[in-house]
Amino acid sequence: MINAKSPLRGKGEGIAGDGQRGAPPAFAKRTFIIYHLSFVILASFIILATGPLMDYDVVVVGAGPAGASAARFLAEAGASVALVDAKKFPRHKPCAGWLNNKAARQFAFIDAARRRTGAAPFKRLVFHSPDLKQEAEFKSRAHVGYVTNRDAFDHALVQAARDAGAKTVLGKAVTDVETGEREATVVLAGGRRLTGRILIGADGVHSTVATSTGLRPRWSPGQLVYTLSKTVTLTARQRKAGFGASPAIHVAPSFGGAMGYAWAFPGRRHVSVGVGVRTGETGRLKTLFADWVGAVDHLGLLPAKADLDAPEGCAIPAGAAVEFENHVGKRVVLVGDAGGFASAATGEGLYPAIVSARIAADCILSALEADAGDRRGSTCQDELLKFRTLWRRRLAAHLQLPNVNVTFLLPLIYTNQEICDRFARAFLFGDNL
Ligand SMILES: Cc1cc2nc3c(=O)[nH]c(=O)nc-3n(C[C@H](O)[C@H](O)[C@H](O)COP(=O)(O)OP(=O)(O)OC[C@H]3O[C@@H](n4cnc5c(N)ncnc54)[C@H](O)[C@@H]3O)c2cc1C
Repeated sequence: MINAKSPLRGKGEGIAGDGQRGAPPAFAKRTFIIYHLSFVILASFIILATGPLMDYDVVVVGAGPAGASAARFLAEAGASVALVDAKKFPRHKPCAGWLNNKAARQFAFIDAARRRTGAAPFKRLVFHSPDLKQEAEFKSRAHVGYVTNRDAFDHALVQAARDAGAKTVLGKAVTDVETGEREATVVLAGGRRLTGRILIGADGVHSTVATSTGLRPRWSPGQLVYTLSKTVTLTARQRKAGFGASPAIHVAPSFGGAMGYAWAFPGRRHVSVGVGVRTGETGRLKTLFADWVGAVDHLGLLPAKADLDAPEGCAIPAGAAVEFENHVGKRVVLVGDAGGFASAATGEGLYPAIVSARIAADCILSALEADAGDRRGSTCQDELLKFRTLWRRRLAAHLQLPNVNVTFLLPLIYTNQEICDRFARAFLFGDNL
């Protein structure tokens, strides 16, 4: 992959050099004009032959797990990549932080990032009935996942992208996107422009890339889950007192009878407490959160005087990718939350973000080869469009709602260990019920 920027830049210097000293002014002027004209003609010829000036092969907007992973995959493979984010890192991201252990097993840099940032492994998941009168526990011998500190974990992923050679442009929001036949350009706050052969929209649930390119003007209300959550700092002693020596993650499906669930996930030095519900029940969110805080307190999970005031509200496009076809536009691909890659049942978005980034990176690497004429009969856009089929093959089952009547099965979690284990595996690994 050749970046077209370098051969054409910085060549206009030293024109009136020593060779012209002493020549008549008219002659010098003519030589000057001819020299310039021939340069402009040559440059135009090169631009026509190779396409417009590119800053990068790929510009990635959004440096969360989806964008940082995509940048890492592409840069590792030799593409020139700019990774742009509105925020400087480490930045805060409201999240319960649970990372599926498939992600750590499949991707070495994810495993390295969770190790480096001290993500807390867990082997147990405890379900609580909506009235909190019943509990059921799934136990595994091996770790089934990790509770990350998202601020630190995401920062480590940005560092991993940098280590692979991606250039980071942080603290600059993308305000607009222009796509052409052979390139895509993003406009940054302040007016600076970055052009790439291909653009990745990894800018989260409120993606500017998705809206600016018309790929997704807005979410339909049913596609979002709304959450209220708060992260509380824990000392090692408080963590042990609340969650024990082998901390479990706690989940209350249908808490308060709502379509959604409440959680308490202990990290190494924090616990995330929150509630998520589908549209239609958002009016109850504050009450549900307050009730869940009371419940978690009652269960003895929280230290006395834990500050759970002023929880943060956030949306998750849970399962939205499955209903929404337009992840690929002209020279643009959407990944992670921007493309609705989060589980419909659990809202889990880390693993889908990373996997959607992997699949997009593979398609983009082929698209760059097609651009360079190395893929006979296939165009750049043909290669990008393969994303549609490939992500469905690898992720659709993980993102879809279970194909059984959950309302009927749910009460059985607390009386039947096999059902409890099936629900836990569905929750943790996206297995079918
Ligand atoms: C309360 C809550 C709890 C959750 N718990 C879990 C969990 O336990 N496990 C799990 O797997 N998932 C969980 N999720 C989902 C998970 O957080 C997301 O799916 C995941 O962060 C998606 O990653 P992403 O990279 O696509 O987006 P993000 O992490 O949102 O990153 C997007 C990035 O784009 C940047 N950006 C946005 N707009 C622009 C712009 N115009 N220009 C430049 N940059 C821009 C943002 O600053 C941000 O850094 C939870 C979500 C919420 C809200």
